[in-house]
Amino acid sequence: MKKSRNYSIYFLLVLALMFVVIILQFVGAKNTVTRTTYNLGQLETDLQNGNITAAIIYQNQETPTGAVRVRTSDEQDLTLYVTDVTEVEDLLISYNVYPSVSDVARDNSLMANIIPIVIVLIIVAFVFVMLNNAQGASAGGSRMMNFGKSRAKLSNSDDNKIRLDDVAGLTEEKEQLAEIIEFLKSPGKFIKLGARIPKGVLLEGRPGTGKTLLAKAVAGEAGVPFFTISGSDFVEMFVGVGASRVRDLFEEAKKNAPCIIFIDEIDAVARRRGTGMGGGHDEREQTLNQLLVEMDGFGTNEGIIVMAATNRVDILDPAILRPGRFDRKITVSPPDVGGREAILKIHARNKKLGDDVDLKQVAQTTAGFTGADLENLLNEAAINTAMADRSFTNKEDIQKAFINVGIGVEKHSHIITDKEKKITAYHETGHAILFHVLPDVGPVYTVSIIPTGAGAAGYTMPLPEKDEMFLSRNRMLEDIMVSLGGRIAEEIIFGDITTGASSDIKKATHEARNMVTKYGMSKNIGVINYDEEEEDVFIGYDIAHNKKHSELMSGEIDKEVKAIIDACYKKAKEIILEYQDVLHKSAELLIEKEKIGRDEFEALFEGHEIPEDFNMEI
Ligand code: ADP
Ligand code: MG
Ligand code: ZN
Repeated sequence: MKKSRNYSIYFLLVLALMFVVIILQFVGAKNTVTRTTYNLGQLETDLQNGNITAAIIYQNQETPTGAVRVRTSDEQDLTLYVTDVTEVEDLLISYNVYPSVSDVARDNSLMANIIPIVIVLIIVAFVFVMLNNAQGASAGGSRMMNFGKSRAKLSNSDDNKIRLDDVAGLTEEKEQLAEIIEFLKSPGKFIKLGARIPKGVLLEGRPGTGKTLLAKAVAGEAGVPFFTISGSDFVEMFVGVGASRVRDLFEEAKKNAPCIIFIDEIDAVARRRGTGMGGGHDEREQTLNQLLVEMDGFGTNEGIIVMAATNRVDILDPAILRPGRFDRKITVSPPDVGGREAILKIHARNKKLGDDVDLKQVAQTTAGFTGADLENLLNEAAINTAMADRSFTNKEDIQKAFINVGIGVEKHSHIITDKEKKITAYHETGHAILFHVLPDVGPVYTVSIIPTGAGAAGYTMPLPEKDEMFLSRNRMLEDIMVSLGGRIAEEIIFGDITTGASSDIKKATHEARNMVTKYGMSKNIGVINYDEEEEDVFIGYDIAHNKKHSELMSGEIDKEVKAIIDACYKKAKEIILEYQDVLHKSAELLIEKEKIGRDEFEALFEGHEIPEDFNMEI
C-alpha cells in the first residue's frame, strides 16, 4: 500500500478554522469590553447626571430579556443585559431619553451564525480523520466502518527506519534474533534445506527495556512489512470483534508475507484462560482461541513471524508457549553499565551536550534505569537547558533531570546506592564461587547485579541444567551450600548481614527438610516419609495438623534439618574463605561491569587448583 494518508492537511484545516474563530472572537470583543462593568445602578446614576445622550434597546423577541446600549455624553457606548427591557425603557423615558428599539442583538449575529458552522466543520474534519485512521492498513479499500477489521497498523519496509544499530546494548537478545532476520530476508534458503523456523517469538521484560524497539528493528533490518497491534485493541466491547480482528490480521499478513506481526502487550488477550469471573472474559477467551487457531493454522515456512511483547510472562496462558506457537522466548533485560552508556550515546545523537557531560559517568550513576528511563533523562535535561536559555546541555541540567526522572524510576524499580551495589556484588559472588568450586553444580553462566523485574537485587545463573532423573544426596547438599553462599559472603566481608538473603534461606531450609522427611537422607531419622503437607493441599480446609507422627518426632526432624543447614553453612564458609581473593576480585569486577560472563568469572580462579571431589561428610 502506498503512503496515501496525509493527515497534516486535515490538521492545517482544523488549525485554520480555529484561527478564524479566535479572530472573530477578538473582533467581537472590541465592542464588549464594558459590558461586564456596567450595571443598572450605574445607568441610573448616569441618567440622573444627564450623562446619557441616546439609547437603543435590542429586544429579544420571545422573552422580555434583552440588551440596552446607551451612549454617554463623552461618546462612550455601553451595553448592559437585563432581564426585563420594558423596565429599563420606562427608566430611560422617565429621564427623557427615548430609546429606539431593535429586534435582536445585532452585534452578536455574525458570531452566532458562524460558530455553529465552524464547529460542525471541525467535527466533520475530525471524524473524517478518525475514520481514516481506524480504517488503518486494512487493504486500502474504501470501507469506512468495519468493526471487525483488524486495527493493525501496517508500516512498510521503506517507512521503518529503525535498525538494530538503533538498539543499544542487548547483544544477546540481538544474537537470538539474528536467525529470524536472516529467514525473513531470504526464506527460500531455509525452506530449501527443510529447516524449521520458529513461528512466534515472545519478548519478555520490564517496561521500557526496548521490546517494542527491538521488534521494529527486526522488521527494519529484514526490510519486511510490519503489522503492529496492541493486545488491548483486540479486546473490544462487541463480542466477537476481537476474534474477527485476529482472523483479518492474519489474512492481511498472508498477503504480505514475508512479514512480521507484532502484538504488543499480549497479556491483554493471552491471560490465563478461565481465571476470570463473570461473562466479560468470554470475549478475551474467544480472541485468544482464535489467535491460537491462526498460529497453528499457518505452515511454519509461510514467511510470517509473529512477535509479541509482554512484561507479565507469568500471567500468560501456558497454551501460548507450546511448540508451534511462541516457541522462542527472549528475555529482554535492563541494561548494564556498558549498555546504559551505549543507550545514552544513541539518544544524545540529536542533542547538544556540553563538554562537561561525561556519559560514561552518567551511565555509572544510573544503575536500575531502563532504556526508556535514560531516554527520558536526556530529554528532561534538554528541557532544563531550554528553560535556562542555554544552547548546550551541561552537567547540571542532567543532575537536575536525574532528580525528576529518578523519582519515577524509584517507583517502578529502585535506584541502587553504591553500598547496595557492593553488598549485592559480594552476595552474588558468594553463590557463584560455590557453583564453580562444588563438583555437582554449576558452571556459572552469568553473574549479575542488575536488579530483575521480579524484585531480586541480582542473580547468579548456572548453565542450563541437564534434566536429571534424580538428585543425589551430595547434589542436594551442594545446592544448599550454594543457596547459603550469598549470606556467608556478606557475613565475611561486612561482618553484618542483610535481609536480602531471605529467599535463599527459605530455599535451603526447604531442601534440607525434604532431604529429611521425603528422601530418607538424614543420619538419624531413617528411611521414612514424614512429609505431611503435600497430599492435603487440595482439600480446602486445614487438616495439615493431622500429623502422621508425634511431637517428639517433629522435634527430631527439626533438629536434623538444623544439623544439615549448620554443616552446610560451615563447609561453604570454609570454601569461600579459601577463595577470598577471588571473592574480592569478582565483586570489584561486578561493581564495575554489573554483569560478568562465564569466561571472565573463571579467569579469576587463576592460580587455584579446584579439587575434583569434596568430602561431603555431613
Ligand atoms: P518496551 O516496549 O520494552 O516497554 P520500548 O521499546 O517502548 O520499551 O522503549 C521505550 C523507549 O526507550 C524507546 O523508544 C527508546 O527510545 C528507549 N530505549 C529502550 N531501550 C533502548 C535501547 N536498548 N536502545 C536505545 N533506546 C532504547
Ligand atoms: Mg512496548
Ligand atoms: Zn542470593
